[in-house]
Amino acid sequence: MPATADPAFDVVILGGGSGGYSCALRAAELGLTVALVEKDKLGGTCLHKGCIPTKALLHAAEVADTAREGAAYGVRTSLDAIDMGGVRGYQEGVVARLYKGLQGLVAGRSVEYVTGSGRLTSPTTVTVGERVLTGRAVVLATGSSARTLPGLEIAGRVVTSEEALRLDAVPDRVVVLGGGVIGVEFASIFRSFGADVTIVEALPRLVAAEDEDISRTLERELRKRKITIRTGVRFDGATQTDAAVTVTLEGGESLEADLLLVAVGRGPVTDGLGYDEVGVAMDRGYVVTDERLRTSVDGVRAVGDIVPGPQLAHRGFAQGIFVAEDIAGLSPVPVDDVGIPRVTYCTPEVASVGLTEAAARERFGDVDAYTYPLGGNGKSQILRTSGFVKVVRRQGGPVLGVHMIGARMGEQVGEAQLIYNWGAYADEVAALVHAHPTQNEALGEAFLALAGKPLHAHG
Ligand SMILES: Cc1cc2nc3c(=O)[nH]c(=O)nc-3n(C[C@H](O)[C@H](O)[C@H](O)COP(=O)(O)OP(=O)(O)OC[C@H]3O[C@@H](n4cnc5c(N)ncnc54)[C@H](O)[C@@H]3O)c2cc1C
Repeated sequence: MPATADPAFDVVILGGGSGGYSCALRAAELGLTVALVEKDKLGGTCLHKGCIPTKALLHAAEVADTAREGAAYGVRTSLDAIDMGGVRGYQEGVVARLYKGLQGLVAGRSVEYVTGSGRLTSPTTVTVGERVLTGRAVVLATGSSARTLPGLEIAGRVVTSEEALRLDAVPDRVVVLGGGVIGVEFASIFRSFGADVTIVEALPRLVAAEDEDISRTLERELRKRKITIRTGVRFDGATQTDAAVTVTLEGGESLEADLLLVAVGRGPVTDGLGYDEVGVAMDRGYVVTDERLRTSVDGVRAVGDIVPGPQLAHRGFAQGIFVAEDIAGLSPVPVDDVGIPRVTYCTPEVASVGLTEAAARERFGDVDAYTYPLGGNGKSQILRTSGFVKVVRRQGGPVLGVHMIGARMGEQVGEAQLIYNWGAYADEVAALVHAHPTQNEALGEAFLALAGKPLHAHG
């Protein structure tokens, strides 16, 4: 039976994750007619398999640590056990409430929600089964999925982050392959839940996209938590039996574990979706765009993880909103990847925005960096956390990057991103008052020092 063509929409969006649904909501808000195609669950990776469930697990992990460490605060507590059924119930409850809310939002904005697997079949059409959705503009937003390594099959004791969200019990020994954001977050969760954890990373340092001082401090703090870290080591292979998985490293050393978590990055979901056939320029599976997120095919845009750059939900939101506004003719300012805040929610947390010191030196040369230790910050002492705030700026110029590590430092990234994206100078920030006692004061202190008037800073 021939596919039937629907009357044209202003925008047809393929993929209902962070990038796709934010585009749909903003476009509908602007009065455009919108079709949103999703084959699985509205909300995509972030809501169902990524940000939200992992952050619920990390919060449960924090509760476990708090119970274990009560005595350090004079409160007699102990950790009895981790009930993974209970943890999953909590995690799934959070996701379910947000999912319901999101479905309500999409229904409330008159978005035509189409369930099914879609394909780009021309510059103006997406075909879903028998239905042909025609759009004045088409937005590709099919996201990403977990990668593995050649010869490493995901099955049994070898899992990705997706299966790791559904474990029935805490494994005794875990090897985490990959020391990027997802790898260190899961390593942190498993350790808090009582597992012996080893991280294997081929690069010379963990969270290699972050400033080098951050990686060094994170490695030290994770080692203090008795997480074993093997950097600069290549994975060679893995075999499994009913009882264990054996991971072999380059050089022949082997590690035995109950679970191998493969966290070696995420690749774009673009294969077999018609992008190539319609002539959309691709690069190693990613969709190539200009800064206005236009692909090589007129009228076809792309947002989110399929566009090269940091794979973050809030980047997807920002790009989705940008594209909707651009299609509506509002001429919005393009999203700058460097100005997107980044948080790694392990214990301790890492948060940053802008350029690392090395990248800033390479780009500008005349750069200063100032590091304020959390040892001088009252609230951090109350929380018994250490770490630092590091500010990188152009000499006599604006702030180029802010890099932070310590418990709860993710909460500080809001001000840091405002400072960076506003192009603020140190003395402008130093003139603003930071509440006492908060960890936020550590940011304020760094700027006081950079402005030449340090308060609680030595040397
Ligand atoms: C474990 C983990 C933790 C994470 N934690 C964070 C975090 O704390 N903070 C953060 O900012 N980011 C985090 N991320 C990353 C974040 O989830 C992604 O950057 C974000 O989801 C990307 O949004 P997207 O819309 O591009 O893709 P996705 O969310 O992957 O959505 C794509 C959607 O397209 C649908 N789709 C694909 N093909 C088709 C088709 N042919 N037809 C119809 N529908 C289709 C999929 O079903 C999916 O729903 C995490 C990711 C993971 C895996």
